[in-house]
Amino acid sequence: QGAKKSELQRSVMAKASGQHLVLENFIGGKFVSCRSHIDSFDPSTGEVYCKVPDSGKEEVEAAVAAAKDAFPDWSARSVEQRVQVLNKLADLLDSHLEEFVQAESRDQGKTVTFARTVDIPRSAHNFRFFASSVQHHTTDCSQMDHMGCLNYTIRCPVGVAGLISPWNLPLYLLTWKIAPAIAMGNTVVAKPSEMTSVTAWMLCKLMQEAGVPPGVVNMVFGTGPRAGDALVGHPDVPLVSFTGSTATAQHITERSAPYCKKLSLELGGKNPAIIFADADLDKCIETTVRSSFSNQGEICLCTSRIYVERSIYSEFLERFVAAAKKWKTGVPSDPSSHNGALISKEHLEKVRGFVALARSEGGIVHCGEGVDQLDLPEKNKSGYFMPATVISGISESSRVIQEEIFGPVTCVSPFDTEDEAVSKGNGVRYGLAATVWSQDVGRVHRMAKRIQAGLVWTNCWLVRDLNLPFGGMKNSGVGREGGKDSYHFFTETNVHLDCG
Ligand code: NAD
Repeated sequence: QGAKKSELQRSVMAKASGQHLVLENFIGGKFVSCRSHIDSFDPSTGEVYCKVPDSGKEEVEAAVAAAKDAFPDWSARSVEQRVQVLNKLADLLDSHLEEFVQAESRDQGKTVTFARTVDIPRSAHNFRFFASSVQHHTTDCSQMDHMGCLNYTIRCPVGVAGLISPWNLPLYLLTWKIAPAIAMGNTVVAKPSEMTSVTAWMLCKLMQEAGVPPGVVNMVFGTGPRAGDALVGHPDVPLVSFTGSTATAQHITERSAPYCKKLSLELGGKNPAIIFADADLDKCIETTVRSSFSNQGEICLCTSRIYVERSIYSEFLERFVAAAKKWKTGVPSDPSSHNGALISKEHLEKVRGFVALARSEGGIVHCGEGVDQLDLPEKNKSGYFMPATVISGISESSRVIQEEIFGPVTCVSPFDTEDEAVSKGNGVRYGLAATVWSQDVGRVHRMAKRIQAGLVWTNCWLVRDLNLPFGGMKNSGVGREGGKDSYHFFTETNVHLDCG
């Protein structure tokens, strides 16, 4: 185990032995270097530390060809044979946990604690979960006695799956796609975010040892407009699973329309927390601070609008701001840091821009940006850090309320009636997730039905059974993934009509 671990470590260190870590594409089971590269920054220092291949059409072409070649053999294997490979990948990730944790934190800016407790263990869990769930699906059968006919469905893998993932939970969201795709017998060309490609590249190093045949998983690194666009526009990729922004999804939908591709789109959110006067405030405040600021607020499921019943509004605001002030932003490797750095300089500026907009519209910034100073070591002074920020006094029509900020910023405002809470909760173009806080069982069931969101949590957040459908309504997505839904998405059905 130790020897294998140091092998991966050695490889990462060797690639970084010059000034920068230089990544390669992974095509047909081989690492292939690319002619040109993109700079990748360490968000906690603002320095370039890694060079990511700037792949284009040519590299995507080679990867799709390798995936096509590998498809007949992989799709003909028994489910048990494929499951063994997935479980082995999970075991390998577990045994290399700490290397992946350190790499994810450095690449993304998130805290080491978050990567160690969420990103990497959940990535391993994705492989284990789909290895198990793929064995438990059944197909349908119905009889037409009067005609002596039997109808039954067959599910087959679709072919080469194009998988495109974002930078916020890099390995976790990538494995959420790779695992079901290959479990069902597809082969894959994946394109991780150009800003966070390192752990995907490290995963490729484990493929051979896990017994993944060459060409079953191919990784092409690069930007959306070049590598991503070439993948989505490739005629031999009949299915695209995408997680990212709504704007990119619109582009992908247009690009794939001429080929009638199967699309799964997991997009942005502007998630409300609706807090009634009978809520358990201790639990609610602790959880809502977490749901607003975890991973620097860079989780699609983070709370960014908080509506509080007027009778407890002042008390809530005071206690919530006090708790947010204790949510420490600091060096990612420091175990006492709750948040690390945001993904990029551009993103930090965008998030700060929303706080400036709130101020210019008369909003009150209670803590965080422009109010609290961060105490950072010298080498982190150019990092992309921003403290947890709480705003009130913003109009519902403001861009601050309407648009996804995707940073450590949340807005609080009061409501008077259940109808008003529903109307405000639903008053944006997104519909990904919501939390409802109340001890009244009837009310929480009513709210769950009325809130337009793919996920409604009651008195909790981020607790999820992977068997259940995950996805958004309205501009937050098209389709669902998870257990049976991933099985359906990554397979085609045909119906056999057998009349003797
Ligand atoms: P993004 O849309 O900018 O990029 C996502 C991926 O798409 C990246 O790999 C990028 O390179 C690629 N891409 C960009 N342009 C492309 C194009 N023209 N063709 C093909 N691929 C292209 O999103 P992001 O900034 O990386 O991620 C943040 C967004 O992701 C937020 O909106 C967040 O809410 C959303 N998100 C959603 C979920 C979910 O499950 N619903 C989960 C995580 C993140």
